[in-house]
Amino acid sequence: MSVSAVAADRSVCAPLPVLGRDVLVPLVTGGEVDYAALDYAASAPALQRVWDDVAAYAPYYGSVHRGAGYLSQLSTDLFENSRATIAKFLGCGRREGDQVVFTRSTTDSLNLLAAVLPQNTRVFVFETEHHASLLPWEQRPDTAVTYLNAPRTPQQAVDTLEKALAEREPYGPALVCVTGASNVTGELWPVRELAAAAHAHGARIVLDAAQLAPHHPIDIAELDVDWVAFSGHKLYAPFGAGVLAGRADWLQAAEPYLAGGGASRKVSRRTDGGVDVEWHTTAARHEAGSPNVIGAYAIASACQALTEAGFDGLVAREQELIARVREGLAEVPEVKVLSLFGDDAPRVGVLSFVVEGWNSSHFAAALSAEYGIGVRDGLFCAHPLVRTLLGSEPQEPGECGAPEAAPGERSLNAIRVSFGAGTPDEHVERFVRAVKELVADGARWNYRTEDGRCVPDTSA
Ligand code: PMP
Repeated sequence: MSVSAVAADRSVCAPLPVLGRDVLVPLVTGGEVDYAALDYAASAPALQRVWDDVAAYAPYYGSVHRGAGYLSQLSTDLFENSRATIAKFLGCGRREGDQVVFTRSTTDSLNLLAAVLPQNTRVFVFETEHHASLLPWEQRPDTAVTYLNAPRTPQQAVDTLEKALAEREPYGPALVCVTGASNVTGELWPVRELAAAAHAHGARIVLDAAQLAPHHPIDIAELDVDWVAFSGHKLYAPFGAGVLAGRADWLQAAEPYLAGGGASRKVSRRTDGGVDVEWHTTAARHEAGSPNVIGAYAIASACQALTEAGFDGLVAREQELIARVREGLAEVPEVKVLSLFGDDAPRVGVLSFVVEGWNSSHFAAALSAEYGIGVRDGLFCAHPLVRTLLGSEPQEPGECGAPEAAPGERSLNAIRVSFGAGTPDEHVERFVRAVKELVADGARWNYRTEDGRCVPDTSA
């Protein structure tokens, strides 16, 4: 969609108030500028509304589930009501037997699902996934994992999955894991079609919605996915909670993810000296330990805030920002935007690119030090995908990133810019201007490598 087409659409909403919008950061060239947070895909700033809701609740904070006091009961209600709000946000209520389990994050949610898979489950996963959805499945020796090659169109993704499922039949329990929106390219995956393919072959499907949930409404029943996983800190609710929502049967048939209080209903000594445990058969089965009531409430508050703001307007505004960034970058021939599905693919506000002649860490450091813009550089915990997109050779795996070349040398990594509901126009305008200036004029400061990263050289 072009900028003008979107501008004509009066349903575009204003940026939602977020924390940190007035924070000033120093520039290496002198002076200060308000921080342009353009790393939403890693962690988005907290919505002001979420912060206010949490602050209003904080004095009433109390122990959840086991306390007899008034504030414990109030906190327990808040915790369980948060679960209900999130279930509604995800359209869970419309399907019999769905559950919302609170976790720490998307990574935790997918590891929980991996832990509860029935014996001898066959898992199908694209190599393009974030490591959080690529890696958890091999931890159980009885789980067989099929890694699918990167598709170059959404239809190819469906065809690849179809073929892989058909070739391996017959199998017992099977699971497909797919991302809703790529954390590297921002491109949307054909989730509904992949779910239909999975189900046609008797497999189930889990949606990694870490990057989708902050940008799009998700309806678990309408998409017909079996589970959805996402993180609060990417959904403007940075209080350490995440969600795994969906079918209860596999979750309830398995041993608890963590053994401990909260997950156990009854514990007794056996006559032979051992211990017998009766585990809960609700979401609590996988929520052992004291629940993160503030984290859960913050996610519910964010769900409420996004719903009330209206996803139509939020999406329209984000598409406008995407168009501005893409149009701006297209004017710089040295910039190559990474894409799996091509220019016309529907996408969220996440874009990765490389700049000819620049080391990505050097470029990202200059954006920060000279313009007050926070982006990310590296392989974004999706090493196989980024290497496929860059066409580069595998290198020593780093954690979230990889060894860097010296400033000025060509890098094997990319730069990622990402934004969302709180991003003002000025931040993306500054970003586009900065890219153009850096490419045209070079950095105005000297940089050196420190602990594998480029940093401004302030030693002179
Ligand atoms: N999946 C995707 C697509 C992501 O972008 C991320 C975070 N970058 C994760 C999973 C993992 O999320 P978390 O670190 O919150 O567990």
